Amino acid sequence: MSYKLFIPGPVEVSQKTYNAMATPVFGHRSSDFVELYESVQPGLQTLFYTKDPVFISTSSAWGVMEGAIRNLTGKRVLNCMSGAFSDKWHDVAKRCGLQAGALEFEWGEPVDPEAVRKELAGGDYDVITIIHNETSTGTMNPLAEIMAVVREFPDVISVVDTVSSFSAVPINKDELGIDVMLTGSQKALALPPGLALFSVSERAFARAASIEGRGYYFDFLEFRKNHEKGMTPSTPVIPHIFALRSKLEDIFEEGLESRFARHARLNEMVHAWADRHGFELLPPRAFASKSLSCIRNSTDLDLPELIARLKKRYNCVIDGGYGKIKGKTFRISNMGDETDETIDALLKQLDEILAEL
Ligand SMILES: *Cc1c(COP(=O)(O)O)cnc(C)c1O
Repeated sequence: MSYKLFIPGPVEVSQKTYNAMATPVFGHRSSDFVELYESVQPGLQTLFYTKDPVFISTSSAWGVMEGAIRNLTGKRVLNCMSGAFSDKWHDVAKRCGLQAGALEFEWGEPVDPEAVRKELAGGDYDVITIIHNETSTGTMNPLAEIMAVVREFPDVISVVDTVSSFSAVPINKDELGIDVMLTGSQKALALPPGLALFSVSERAFARAASIEGRGYYFDFLEFRKNHEKGMTPSTPVIPHIFALRSKLEDIFEEGLESRFARHARLNEMVHAWADRHGFELLPPRAFASKSLSCIRNSTDLDLPELIARLKKRYNCVIDGGYGKIKGKTFRISNMGDETDETIDALLKQLDEILAEL
């Protein structure tokens, strides 16, 4: 059974992408592989807005999220927490045995740059983790303002998760001074799950070189060493790299400006739909995500029934809320390849079912 996914990851994967994945593989130490690896680099650097190398990790985003704090934390990591993924990063830091501090906000509230300044001013921290787009709450943090604060503290290495915003909105890694920027394949990029991408600054490499116990699989210096040969440290998920190459073609054919505009427009369509039905967004409007909408179930709607009917009748799937806000919110993704037509069709289907409930 195949469903059309409007959940915020994994999202719908195009047939063109699936076809690309069926390309026969070759050895990961062959010249064919080097050619493939190097062919995606310029596009990735453009999308990351960086001159630094962009690495390909055969893991989901969590591999790199865990790897980053293990590669970089000498003293203590500050975790900005405002939803399921950012809260979990703090938990992961503790599981890794790292010294970790929590800067907590209500779910749906954005990270406050002033609060970040206050925490960092103590001088206890040498790493900060920030989730740009908290997918669980549909909240887009004010990254430029937060990074302006982080740049005041030259000893602090910044790790920014852009899993559900990368390529949906521009995120200028070098201009913002982000040291490690990472994303995953199955959200805004609309590839199947199984691959993560990340880019690392010179400052962060220098820090990693001073840290013991980086392990092997996610060792940033191993990634750099292999990158210089057009390779990855271990055998990568080659079909996903074919898919990535195909997706980069799609992205640059559409054009970045058009892509960003499309996501903004589709997101606005969902917000207008929510307004029409008297639903509120979970985050304040100014901080609402542009790649998904997290909507409060403010009219006491029978959410499981809505979701079940949508799935049964139209083969479409939306999300009924994540973690502690399950049932109290629902989420609709406009990531990846969605168009005016697909979002419009979904909203009409939801209108029809809402009228019955
Ligand atoms: C989905 C998601 C992750 C985790 O991705 P995995 O692919 O499950 O590792 C991390 N951060 C954000 C913001 C996400 O949306």
